[in-house]
Formats: sequence, structure tokens, C-alpha cells
Amino acid sequence: MDAKTRGYACPRCTVGRCAPQATTFADVFQGQLLCIPNSRAYICDVCHFAEFEPELLDALWNELYSEAALDDVKPPARHKRGSSYSEGSG
Ligand SMILES: [Zn+2]
Repeated sequence: MDAKTRGYACPRCTVGRCAPQATTFADVFQGQLLCIPNSRAYICDVCHFAEFEPELLDALWNELYSEAALDDVKPPARHKRGSSYSEGSG
């Protein structure tokens, strides 16, 4: 095992540690499955939560939406944090 542990505490399970690894980025773009092998991401060693680098996503969206902008398509929402709904109080 490596003495050095890179990465950060997992934001999802808060138990594991997210370390940089190469994985396959997969997402749905305009109804089509988009796969990019050997993408850099931080992956949790406990719950396998994967968080891709924002730079990768930005570059990706820039490439994709430079063409898609013709159709006036809005990019999908990225990591949503917090609840978007209000709690009912009866
Ligand atoms: Zn985790």
C-alpha cells in the first residue's frame, strides 16, 4: 500500500477517500450515450462515488455546445447541492 494518500474525504459517504484515477466518463448528451475512456476523476474507495474534474467537464461542454448552441440547447444541470424543494408544513 502507498504511504501517501492523495485526494480528499468523500463528500457522499464521508468515510472513504476520493483518489485520482482514470475511469470512463459516461453521460447522456441529447439522448445519446456519451463515453470518454481514460478520463481523470476522483473516485471514492468505499462507495465508488466519482467526481470528475471541472476542467474536463468545462472542456467537454465547450466542445459539445459549440455545435449544439445552434439549436439553443441548455447544458444539463451539474452537481446539484441542497434541496430544490421546500418542505411542506401542512
Ligand atoms: Zn464515498
